[in-house]
This record gives sequence, structure tokens and C-alpha cells, in this order.
Amino acid sequence: MQEMQSNRLQTRHTPSQTRSRSVKSNMVKKEPIPKPGSNFLKVKCTKCGNEQVVFDRAAVQVKCNVCEDVLLETQGGKAKIKGEVTQVLG
Ligand SMILES: [Zn+2]
Repeated sequence: MQEMQSNRLQTRHTPSQTRSRSVKSNMVKKEPIPKPGSNFLKVKCTKCGNEQVVFDRAAVQVKCNVCEDVLLETQGGKAKIKGEVTQVLG
């Protein structure tokens, strides 16, 4: 019996992802880049509808810029989103 088992190993390999970390991008961003695995979220204030960007690992409470309602609260090191997440910015 002869089965082509080797086919299973090369199904989902995207070459662009394997080496991207060692390649220096020529697109230089001016903003500080957060640590890998962290996210910026766009959160909508449930009270006034204002949308603002928050860091999902923020160490401090984040308040709405408009009405000062709490958008993000910290609980034992993990942030808890109080508003409505409308977009994940990565
Ligand atoms: Zn608000």
C-alpha cells in the first residue's frame, strides 16, 4: 500500500510569515510599537457614544474623554472593558 502522506505536511505554509521577523521593513512607523500579543482596541462609550482607542493591557483605568465614564477598568492586572469594542487595531 502506498499513500502520499507527505502532502499533509505542506498544506498551510505561507512563506511571507516565516521570515518576517528578521527582515527590516522599510515602512518606519513613528509611533511606539507595543509588545507582541498586545492590542489596541477602539471602545465606544456606552454613555455618550464617543469612540476612543484604548490599550487592552492598560495598567490604569481609562476614562472617556468626553463624559469621563469609565471605559476600561483593571482587575488584578487584566483589563476589563466596560464600553463596547467596535474595532481591534492590533
Ligand atoms: Zn462618554
